[in-house]
Amino acid sequence: MSRYTGPVCRLCRREGQKLFLKGTKCFTEKCPVERRGYPPGQHGQSSARRRRVSEYALQLREKQKVKRIYGLSETPFRNLFEKASREGGVTGENLLVALESRLDNVVYRMAFASSRSQARQIVRHRHVLVNDRIVDIPSYQVNPGDEVRLSDKSKDLLPVQVALESKTRPSAVSWLAADDDSRTGRMLERPTRADIPLAVQEQLIVELYSK
Ligand code: SF4
Repeated sequence: MSRYTGPVCRLCRREGQKLFLKGTKCFTEKCPVERRGYPPGQHGQSSARRRRVSEYALQLREKQKVKRIYGLSETPFRNLFEKASREGGVTGENLLVALESRLDNVVYRMAFASSRSQARQIVRHRHVLVNDRIVDIPSYQVNPGDEVRLSDKSKDLLPVQVALESKTRPSAVSWLAADDDSRTGRMLERPTRADIPLAVQEQLIVELYSK
């Protein structure tokens, strides 16, 4: 299945909460979730009034929510889950750590982009170097000790400047160090679940895929 290219605000409305997919625009009063807090479509308002939600629906919605936050389609998300389940430890946590370690997410967390989708574009357009080598693969897994920086010609791109100067830039996380002036950062250590500021119940995803 190909990646979703439709209006992203629809995805937030479907999940019934802000997923912050549009960068700075998400913090304005124009956010559709605030204006129309019910699912999109002809039956959106009436479906919101229906109360009973099955266990399966809860699990499915949680999986869709995480996929949408990180901008993944089903196949790569499922592959990442399978990889996480083969590692030792807690599968749900492994999954989130792998998602957070993606290069596009790291660029976003370092505030070199206003959203993960913009970070993905910056990576794809060969503006990002990992350990002094251009990496144009958004799913690239960053490892502790890796240096991530923007190339010299890309440091002053307008989207980068806007992201860095934004009042709504993502809060700093303890496992990443970043320097705004040099547009350089480093992964200090692999994050743990406690280090990932994401209000999701990853266990529901594990339960869904374990059926
Ligand atoms: Fe989601 Fe942002 Fe659109 Fe609001 S403005 S619905 S948070 S993508």
